[in-house]
Amino acid sequence: MIEIDRLSKRYGPTVVVDDVSFTVEEGTLTVVVGTSGAGKSTLLRMINRLVEPSAGRVLIDGEDTRAIPEDELRHRIGYVIQGHGLFPHRTVADNIATVPRLLKWDRRKVAQRVDELLDLFQLDPAEFSGKFPHELSGGQQQRVGVARALAARPGLLLMDEPFGALDAVIRSKAQDDLLAIQRRLGTTIVLVTHDLSEAFHLGDRIAVMDQARLLQHATPAELLTHPADDFVERLVGTAERPFRLLSLTRVREAVEPGEAEGEPVTMSDSLHEALSRLLWTGRKALPVADASGAIVGKVSVGGILQHGRPPP
Ligand code: ADP
Repeated sequence: MIEIDRLSKRYGPTVVVDDVSFTVEEGTLTVVVGTSGAGKSTLLRMINRLVEPSAGRVLIDGEDTRAIPEDELRHRIGYVIQGHGLFPHRTVADNIATVPRLLKWDRRKVAQRVDELLDLFQLDPAEFSGKFPHELSGGQQQRVGVARALAARPGLLLMDEPFGALDAVIRSKAQDDLLAIQRRLGTTIVLVTHDLSEAFHLGDRIAVMDQARLLQHATPAELLTHPADDFVERLVGTAERPFRLLSLTRVREAVEPGEAEGEPVTMSDSLHEALSRLLWTGRKALPVADASGAIVGKVSVGGILQHGRPPP
């Protein structure tokens, strides 16, 4: 759906994005991760042409973005930045309605869309429509910011450190909410973060950048099992690798035949959760239940440990 093709950006003699290429499949969430100054934001902003590339091109559904008028491009691509970027003197409803109004949707359709989005983000329209941004908590402001970016149903959403201003507990909830909404709407998302845990939590694919270059573009599991170089290997953290792998793998992949005592785990639990339960209950194995609650086998400490080891 989005093809980033040999994209570069230079400021004077300084190359801040150096010949980066990768493809983002429709309906997936790609995280661009790397340390500060790696060129992540610049790369993101070249996708909606807030920054003009020095070389290379971006294709959206095969169409070169240079052929699309800038205002149309901005309407087709949602953009969320750190903090919320909401208009402080406009109500929540007016903030969310910004792009639909620019597109001259009729008033009833705009009002309907605002209510629908508030519902989707679990903000009661009766309570929140008329509030101003400063009357909301940080987490609520962030949700309104994302709702505003999604208002005109953009096919693509760009997010630059969207959760950077939230504290750890709210951030984790905000990440889960984003995943739920992304799965439900099927929106294609490219999200920039310096937080590797966030990248592993959210990314269908992760693009690792350092010093203007793309070092690796892969699934989270591939990044852990086959890091492209020493930098990526250090970044994914040798000590945490087994745990990250277990978090990415579901119990269904480690079910063994047989019976076990205790409260069952479910097929969709992660192996990380299952191992925690095993350690906590002091058992060697626990039964596994499917979605209907029927016992389909067991999961064991030994079986789980097989999955926490990267292949040789
Ligand atoms: P990241 O998002 O990974 O922190 P950025 O894309 O913001 O990285 O910046 C990459 C590099 O480009 C930084 O060294 C930054 O100082 C430089 N840079 C960004 N924008 C400009 C600009 N408009 N003019 C000059 N240098 C810039």
